[in-house]
Amino acid sequence: MHAPTAQDLSKNSEILEILSGVYDRVIGNSDGTVANYIPELAKADPDKFGLAIATTTGALYSVGQAELEFTIQSISKAFAYCMALEIYGREKVFEHVGVEPSGDAFNAIVFDPHTNRPFNPMVNAGAITVTAMLREAAGDGALRLLLDRFSDAAGRPLVVSDAVYRSEAEAGDRNRAIGYLLRNVGAITGPCEPAVDLYFQQCSILVTANDLARMAATLANIGQNPVTGKQVFSVSAVRDTLSAMLSCGTYDYSGNWILDVGFPAKSGVGGGIAGVVNRQMGIGVYSPRLDPKGNSVRGTAAFRQLSDDLGLHIFEWSNYGSQYLRSSG
Ligand code: GLN
Repeated sequence: MHAPTAQDLSKNSEILEILSGVYDRVIGNSDGTVANYIPELAKADPDKFGLAIATTTGALYSVGQAELEFTIQSISKAFAYCMALEIYGREKVFEHVGVEPSGDAFNAIVFDPHTNRPFNPMVNAGAITVTAMLREAAGDGALRLLLDRFSDAAGRPLVVSDAVYRSEAEAGDRNRAIGYLLRNVGAITGPCEPAVDLYFQQCSILVTANDLARMAATLANIGQNPVTGKQVFSVSAVRDTLSAMLSCGTYDYSGNWILDVGFPAKSGVGGGIAGVVNRQMGIGVYSPRLDPKGNSVRGTAAFRQLSDDLGLHIFEWSNYGSQYLRSSG
């Protein structure tokens, strides 16, 4: 099979067929469990499954429950990081947060032993640092800033789920502890509680698989929303964000992700994953059952399959995809 290029994609019904094929192959997988350490997340219907592709030419293809809202959770970390890079410049951000994979769980209480800073912006410690920087820059207007920018990336107004936010805040002692430790090592310089609170709100923004695909397509399109034409993020911030998503976006699964999927993505414990195929498309998946590392089980399977079927791995060497590799032994 030939791998479609960005040009074919805008009017390619083959894409919808491939998406449906992936859906059919993955829907039967009921492994994993819905996150329950944030009580409100435990209410998610485990069987829901939505898949969407948004191209950089503005087309949207989706199957399943791609219009169902869930909270963005850690996927927000990628977009918040992009904003901090723009506001502060990369040198300043790098002084506070590293870019090395931690090899640890997303909520690990561990800092880089060489720098005493969080390993990267995709684990909680690094993300709370980034959000604290946004709060320092925008004060009480920081949530509005986050919502506006996320909405511009998605192409529709996004809002916070109050129920999930309150649930996160109630169950958020581990993140608060991380926040205080960050202050202790100097990664956070301002007050801790408002920064962690903003992080809870940021994680509680409601999105759909379609939104994730569109937000990811904005990154794929070097920061410009392909539908509205608005330049949402700067080119250089997008480059650095995609780099961190590639190396660290699925926590301590990131090495395997690069191997089997082979393009940048960010997962969240709400069950979403957003993936970016540079200059071609954004992919959004929702399925709330998670593996032990906190990544959506069906989401991961769907990304692997899509990468194979469309030949999306950054090191894809032929037009045949890895299906060919397997069949040729
Ligand atoms: N709000 C969640 C937390 O901080 C986000 C974690 C995630 O999605 N991996 O625990």
